[in-house]
Amino acid sequence: MRDATSCTIHPAVDLSEFSSLTVPTYRASTIVFEDARSYATRTQRDLDSYFYGLHGTPTTRTLEAQITKLENGLRSVIVPSGQAGATIVFLSVLHPGDTVLVPDNVYPPVLDFCVNYLEPRGIHHKIYRPDGEGIEDLIDPSVKLIWAETPGSTTMELQDLRMIAALGKRHGILTGADNTWATPLQLKPLDLGIDFSMQALSKYVGGHSDLLLGSICVNDLELRKKLRDTMRMLGIGVSPDEVSLALRGIETMAVRLAHVGKVALNLAEELASRLEAGSVLHPALPGFPQHSLWKRDFSGASGVFSVVLSERQERRLDEGLDQLKVMAIGASWGGTRSLVAPMSVKDARKFGQAEHQRIFLRINVGLEDQEDLRADLNNLFDILSK
Ligand SMILES: *Cc1c(COP(=O)(O)O)cnc(C)c1O
Repeated sequence: MRDATSCTIHPAVDLSEFSSLTVPTYRASTIVFEDARSYATRTQRDLDSYFYGLHGTPTTRTLEAQITKLENGLRSVIVPSGQAGATIVFLSVLHPGDTVLVPDNVYPPVLDFCVNYLEPRGIHHKIYRPDGEGIEDLIDPSVKLIWAETPGSTTMELQDLRMIAALGKRHGILTGADNTWATPLQLKPLDLGIDFSMQALSKYVGGHSDLLLGSICVNDLELRKKLRDTMRMLGIGVSPDEVSLALRGIETMAVRLAHVGKVALNLAEELASRLEAGSVLHPALPGFPQHSLWKRDFSGASGVFSVVLSERQERRLDEGLDQLKVMAIGASWGGTRSLVAPMSVKDARKFGQAEHQRIFLRINVGLEDQEDLRADLNNLFDILSK
């Protein structure tokens, strides 16, 4: 071989005594084939196999398998964001004339997708109360998907996934759930009968506020095929570099989640004792309105909860937030840093309650020392209560 060829073709090295605990980052656009016959029959390959980098490399397959194991499912797909996790499910199962039911507490960009993308293309949506009241009255033959999100990460309303799954099965309607808050470590939607369990991996799996990915796990190979078909036709894939960050993050997820869950509950209890009854929304607090539903379905609580501010507290909110020393102001939770985000839901809700007129201060607990977080929050609420 001449030099230019030696530059181009990497030499094979002996891997026989190399073993490591990490997953290699396999980057690839093209996949090459052993022989002419393998190339000619490449499109008949199983979806677990490889034929183009866009559809995954062994790095992607490793994360898929890890998510599948945790969700107790059969197969998963990895998508570019949590938002794509929802939209790819919707696009995979809905056709013009169909209807999707979405909860009133849904992640707002999903509602935006229903209103401004699906609706102009003849796919309809109806909004149901998060507690499920009246949901059966919305069902007609056009309903092909019921979407759920439990808890909704601002108002923290829980949804009864068992009831939703049973309703879907009774009417031949597919069901999906956004499992970002609990992660499969604390809730396994597929075990409750849900068809699609979606997570924004950007949050607890990534765990360091530096990546954007999502996952969808299913118990049915036909549903996996529908998801992969949609992704292939839309040209949607993920970078193995991003996936490799998620593979690093997931190694510590159980420890991080157990820690932030414990600290969040401690802080929520302390806030509940100094604030108005009912203003601290954390599913693991015994006084939380749907605490028994949380106890039935979840095996733990993560590190995100909300405080409903009074009118008086709202007036000093900016002043209070500007005094935070440890916590940062920001929305995309699940990383190592504690965050607060003032959220307003009043314009987003169809079934509004008096409480929805108020500002919700969403708190994401990170990995800083609990005493520093307690001091920051106490100082914040001292200012708000002045
Ligand atoms: C963040 C989030 C999403 C979207 O995830 P991205 O990766 O930011 O698109 C969806 N659902 C919930 C509950 C989230 O918190």
